[in-house]
Amino acid sequence: MLATKLVDNAYDVALENFDAAADALGLDNDTREMIKYPERVLTVSVPVRMDDGRIKRFQGYRVQHSTARGPAKGGIRFHPQVTLDEVKALATWMTWKCAVVNIPFGGGKGGVTCDPKHMSQHELEHMTRRYTSAILPLIGPKQDIPAPDVYTNSQTMAWIMDTYSMTKGYTIPGVVTGKPISLGGSLGRNEATGRGVFYTIQCACEHLGIPLKGATVAVQGFGNAGSVTAQLLHEAGAKVIAVSDSVGAIFNKDGLDVPELIHMKTIAGHVHGFPGSESIDPATLLTLKCDILVPAALENAVTAENASSVGARIIAEAANGPLTPAADRILESKGAFIIPDILCNAGGVTVSYFEWVQDEQHLFWEAQDVYNRLEKVMKTSFRDVLKIHLDRVVPMRVAANMLGIGRVAEAIHLRGIYP
Ligand code: NAD
Repeated sequence: MLATKLVDNAYDVALENFDAAADALGLDNDTREMIKYPERVLTVSVPVRMDDGRIKRFQGYRVQHSTARGPAKGGIRFHPQVTLDEVKALATWMTWKCAVVNIPFGGGKGGVTCDPKHMSQHELEHMTRRYTSAILPLIGPKQDIPAPDVYTNSQTMAWIMDTYSMTKGYTIPGVVTGKPISLGGSLGRNEATGRGVFYTIQCACEHLGIPLKGATVAVQGFGNAGSVTAQLLHEAGAKVIAVSDSVGAIFNKDGLDVPELIHMKTIAGHVHGFPGSESIDPATLLTLKCDILVPAALENAVTAENASSVGARIIAEAANGPLTPAADRILESKGAFIIPDILCNAGGVTVSYFEWVQDEQHLFWEAQDVYNRLEKVMKTSFRDVLKIHLDRVVPMRVAANMLGIGRVAEAIHLRGIYP
């Protein structure tokens, strides 16, 4: 077991989570060696001519953790704190995530260390296109399929798709998912992660006997994943009492008007100052007494330092890696019910898979069809993980990892070792 630290290296966390599940599965050492570490790691240098004429160099990464069950799949993050270890951790989690929801993908992830909030659209486009050309040897619809992550979106995917297609000489929509609908994107992809989070919260509430109607909710991070989760919970009658973003946090004990808040965030770019709300310390949001806490920002939101103050009964990990292992242990001992990231936020990659299938078939589905299929996948996966949690008396995170890692191990055993 690692020593308790306040902020953990995400890759150490990923490895520690792996070991806990591999131990519980009784996985032999040979199999562990084969599936624990990334298959490929690419570090690239991305020079960009900025608007003021200077050339700035950015560091980028693409990691393929596993292709045992299919092409690598995972988002691309543009953020000042992107590191190789973070990308390796996120790629590792993608492998287990795709296996938990039983879609035929492995795990990958990419990132560029940059501050997109202080870059123009022109600079972002040039950086994205140069980064794409640098990772060309790895990506492709049958090899490795990027998607949006923090501070990347459907426009970013359109640039990646165009750059890739230009080098091949014809249009290849299936190289990325999370594209605009007009370029072969799937209906329902934009809200897929939040919708998937919502379905797992529904399942958890049912399991714990907590009525969703009237349940109180706090959401850290009001971007794609957090805002859609909040919207669907609001529509289901839950009270979203607190929300935060990178600028600040707001609170209203009677519940915030989520559709209006989304409207304001779209226009103003932040939630701070929302009419009828009071401003609170963002750290306080995590410790509010409520039924459901949704960390939907970045890693290490809940650590050994603040875990004992967390007041929620259900923690729905919309973000990847928001709890450190030490926080996990503290929350488990307090009896909190954790819906682990690789299950909770798997709706995004599930609809990415649907998008890829539609692109490959050149046949597109209606939104309701996407929602129905997503609901089935998420609720089946929740039940599969819950069964292991109850039968084997292990935490939900260990149960989810056991399911994912077990499926990857099975693929490796069946394929054997090449040559
Ligand atoms: P996003 O860029 O749309 O939103 C991120 C939000 O977090 C923004 O509102 C930002 O202001 C806020 N934020 C940043 N730092 C914060 C802080 N310290 N405190 C509070 N808020 C903060 O990103 P997203 O796509 O919603 O991703 C959020 C998380 O969900 C990430 O961990 C990502 O890996 C995970 N995730 C996203 C998807 C997806 O499809 N978008 C899928 C699976 C997992």
